[in-house]
Amino acid sequence: MDSVASFLASDHPTAFSFEILPPIRGNSIDKTLDSIKPLLEFNPAYVNITTHRTEVSYTHVGGGTYRAISAQKRPGTVAIAAVLKERFGIRPVPHIICGDYGRREIEDQLIDLSYLGITDVLALRGDRERNAASFSTSPDGHIHASTLARQIVEFNEGIMADGSCNSPLAHPFSFGVAGYPEKHEEAMNLDSDLIHLKTKVDNGASYIVTQMFFDNKKYFDFVERCRAAGIDVPIIPGIKPLTSLRQMSLLPRIFHIDFPTELSRELMRCTTDDEVRALGVEWATAQAKELKSNNVPSIHFYAMHATRSVVDIAKNIY
Ligand code: FAD
Repeated sequence: MDSVASFLASDHPTAFSFEILPPIRGNSIDKTLDSIKPLLEFNPAYVNITTHRTEVSYTHVGGGTYRAISAQKRPGTVAIAAVLKERFGIRPVPHIICGDYGRREIEDQLIDLSYLGITDVLALRGDRERNAASFSTSPDGHIHASTLARQIVEFNEGIMADGSCNSPLAHPFSFGVAGYPEKHEEAMNLDSDLIHLKTKVDNGASYIVTQMFFDNKKYFDFVERCRAAGIDVPIIPGIKPLTSLRQMSLLPRIFHIDFPTELSRELMRCTTDDEVRALGVEWATAQAKELKSNNVPSIHFYAMHATRSVVDIAKNIY
């Protein structure tokens, strides 16, 4: 199985890829697998699986006392990646995040993935803890994805987290990183964000996957600015089909993105989730058609909770 990087470097028409979330702790994997089966018809070039940091929840244990429980809400990224690879022959791209994990724990994940023959990952810092003012991680962890990128490259070369040396990997990892057409929320401005994005690429990333955007102009401008900044790897646009009324306020708040005026006006006319879903399919189809006509390397769909919409869009596009 080739890497995503070599696939992207090959001559190919605009590919189809999507991202899924592992199920909430305690839920079966069957529903997740059932929901993605209709998407396999469109021959995805690869499938991303998100990774989530530990969250603290509080359980009432009586007498006004609460116990804090620390757990990953959505565990299972590596196992799902293995299932996708073995059962469906799909190229999986599990996400590796810095949040919670020290270098040794990240190394353990790379070892597990390497044993499973999974050598594509997306290298991310990860979200900060819910309600935390800033990002934190384990004392010897990474504060930015750029040093995680360096760790992965060193791991490929046989350099371990404790500095000891092994043979270089026979099947090295290749990886992508995240980019933000509308700027990462913590960046001073788009220019500084691009400087840090370039460091991630200089440290070994083979491609960039963008945060969702609803205005293609933002993506095209971003690509232009990246090229001017000397970032020359493929930049894969991320598309999210809208599916519910609550996303009107949720997505701008969580992902720090704007809806274009025309879309926001049409959304304000919607009174049901069904109406939003229909509009979401129409809007994302128009976005995808324009992106495809501009020969983007792949269109990456944020598919979770929206697989039905992604099927409708993919039918219009591929
Ligand atoms: P970084 O590249 O480290 O950047 C974070 C911020 O720090 C930016 O503002 C950047 O400009 C700044 N910065 C970078 N380097 C430096 C430096 N040396 N000095 C000062 N500032 C610096 N989150 C999850 O928890 N799990 C997931 O599975 C997940 N998947 C994602 C997939 C995609 C395609 C995208 C776009 C995002 C995903 N996220 C995920 C969200 C992501 O983890 C957050 O947006 C996170 O806040 C930033 O991650 P990053 O890798 O871009 O971080």
